[in-house]
Amino acid sequence: MNNLLQNLTNVGKKILTESGVNDAINEAKIIIKKTLKRTELEFITYPNQEITSKQRKLILRNLIERTKGRPISKIFGFKEFFSNEFVVNKNVLDPRPETELLVELAIKEFFELRERKVSLLELGVGSGCVIISILLSIKKNKVSALGVDISDKALSVADKNIKKFKLEKSLKLKKSDWFSNVRGKFDIIVSNPPYVRTSEIEKLDKEVKLYDPFIALNGGLRGLGCFEKIAREAKCHLQENGIILLEIGFGQINSVKKIFEKMGYKTFLKEKDLQGIIRVVGFKLKKTLKVKAKVLTSNF
Ligand code: GLN
Repeated sequence: MNNLLQNLTNVGKKILTESGVNDAINEAKIIIKKTLKRTELEFITYPNQEITSKQRKLILRNLIERTKGRPISKIFGFKEFFSNEFVVNKNVLDPRPETELLVELAIKEFFELRERKVSLLELGVGSGCVIISILLSIKKNKVSALGVDISDKALSVADKNIKKFKLEKSLKLKKSDWFSNVRGKFDIIVSNPPYVRTSEIEKLDKEVKLYDPFIALNGGLRGLGCFEKIAREAKCHLQENGIILLEIGFGQINSVKKIFEKMGYKTFLKEKDLQGIIRVVGFKLKKTLKVKAKVLTSNF
C-alpha cells in the first residue's frame, strides 16, 4: 500500500512543502519520475503502480537531498537550457532561464553577419550551455568558437557537453583567467560573468549559495570587478565591428555602461528579461578609437 506511486507522490509533496520548497508537488513528481526514469506519460497512466522498496529508498534519498537545498539539476546531473539537456555538477553555475536571453541575442547577431565565417569567444564558459546553445542554432561550418574558464573542473563539464552535442570540431576549450590565455580577435564575445556582490552571496537562496560555485557568483565588493577586467582586456581581442554581449545583474546597467563607455566602447544594445530587468547589454568599440588605432599601427 505504502509503495504505490501515488502515495509516494503525496509523501514527497509533504516532505518538500515542510522544508520550504515552493513548487513542492511539481518538484516531488519530477524527483520521482527522474529516479524511476519514467516518462511523464508512464507516470500519469499508472498512478497505482507498485514500486520496489529499493526504488522507494532511492526516491526518499533524493527528496531529502532536495530538502537540504540541492537543486534537482544537481541531484541528477542534468539541467534543461534552451531546449537541450546539459550535464551539470557542483563545479558549474546552474544554467538559468534568464541566461537564455544572452543566447537568443547572440544568435541574432550571428544572422546579421551572414556572409562570412564568424569567430566566437565565451569568457567563463562553465558548463558550456551558452556557447553550445548558440552553436546548435547556427551552421557549424560558419563558426570557430573558443570557450575559456579559470576552473579545470568547469572545463571538464564543458568538455562532456561538447561531446554530448558532438561539437568537438567547432568548439575548443582553454584554461584562461579571462583573456590571460586568449590569443587573436573575435567577432562576438559573450559572457555571463560572476556579478553578485560578495556581501550578497550569503543572502541568496541555499540552492544558489550552497550548490553554485562561489567563484562563478562572486563579482567582488560592488559586483562589478569582472566587467572592469573584461572592458580593459577585450579591446585587443575584438575584430573590427566586433561586439561583446554580457549578462548583467539587477540594477547594474548604469554602472556597467559607465565602465565600458569610459574605456572607449559604445552601448548598442540593452535588453530586458521576462521579468522586465535589463539582463543583457551589448558593446562595440567606438569608431574613432579604431581609426586612431589604425593610424598608430600604420606608423610602425
Ligand atoms: N543570476 C545569478 C544569480 O542571481 C548570478 C549569476 C552570475 O553571477 N553570473 O544567482
